[in-house]
Amino acid sequence: MTEILDGNAVAQSVRDDLATAIDQLADEGVQPSLATVLMSDDPASETYVSMKQDDCAEVGIEAIDIEIDPEADADELYDTIDDLNADGNVNGILVQMPVPDHVDDRAVLRAIDPEKDVDGFHPENVGRLVAGDARYKPCTPHGIQKLIESAGVDTEGKDAVVVGRSDIVGKPMANLLVQKAPGGNATTTVCHSRTEDLAAKTGEADIVIAAAGVPEMIDGEMLKEGATVIDVGINRVDADTENGSELVGDVDFESAKEVAGAITPVPGGVGPMTRAMLLYNTVKAASRQHGIDVDLP
Ligand code: NAD
Repeated sequence: MTEILDGNAVAQSVRDDLATAIDQLADEGVQPSLATVLMSDDPASETYVSMKQDDCAEVGIEAIDIEIDPEADADELYDTIDDLNADGNVNGILVQMPVPDHVDDRAVLRAIDPEKDVDGFHPENVGRLVAGDARYKPCTPHGIQKLIESAGVDTEGKDAVVVGRSDIVGKPMANLLVQKAPGGNATTTVCHSRTEDLAAKTGEADIVIAAAGVPEMIDGEMLKEGATVIDVGINRVDADTENGSELVGDVDFESAKEVAGAITPVPGGVGPMTRAMLLYNTVKAASRQHGIDVDLP
């Protein structure tokens, strides 16, 4: 029987466990706080930020909501980040990407204090992750590690294929999988848009992580029997539904589930885990900045 990995349930258990750490901080008079900075009027970005704000409120993290006019000068964003860096009441800073074209997104990531960089995208935090000394693991790959663990799948010695090499999913995922650490120790291949024979790679893999942003590009015929299949993709495609579209992943769920040992659905798989791990990093940031040891899940 193929196991359908329920991201909502695993994310809920992460949030339940985080409550203990949040209580431990409260005992010392500390409430973790996350500042979200939105410099965009893209409806999807607005939705992402408001979901993150709601998630914080639900677990007792203070959410500070900052919006900057997308037409404003880039300096307004840098000044805001400087103020948040200096503010002792702010533990985590998240600038919702993408920022407008006139703002250099790499400079934005570098401007955030690495101790408050709960996305884990600052070059210092990327370097620490690669070196096996992560401060904050990026939320999506970290959530995937937790999901794989929840399925009782041991990554050690397994052949893993990551499809996609972005800085936010593919590369950090591959880096976590090769670390000499729990959730790592996998023999890891990274495939991307120039990979010549993707099916040959995925067809050999015990674990496939699909993060290409191409609707249903991986089907059952490209998978090995019993593989663990993690679908990161979120693609809106035309469909015969009320609003004329639906969300699909990078994996053709129907054919893949006939072959896979375990598989994530879209929606309800990786997405909720990404959100839960942002809360995790924010609590970890508060604990680090106040020098209070807490029990993190
Ligand atoms: P991206 O566009 O930055 O990167 C996509 C990667 O896929 C690239 O490295 C590219 O080389 C590779 N790729 C593209 N076409 C390919 C092909 N035909 N064969 C093999 N590789 C190919 O995307 P991203 O930010 O990494 O996101 C990937 C997907 O995951 C998107 O659908 C995005 O919406 C989704 N996503 C979901 C979550 C979540 O929490 N569920 C989080 C982040 C991203």
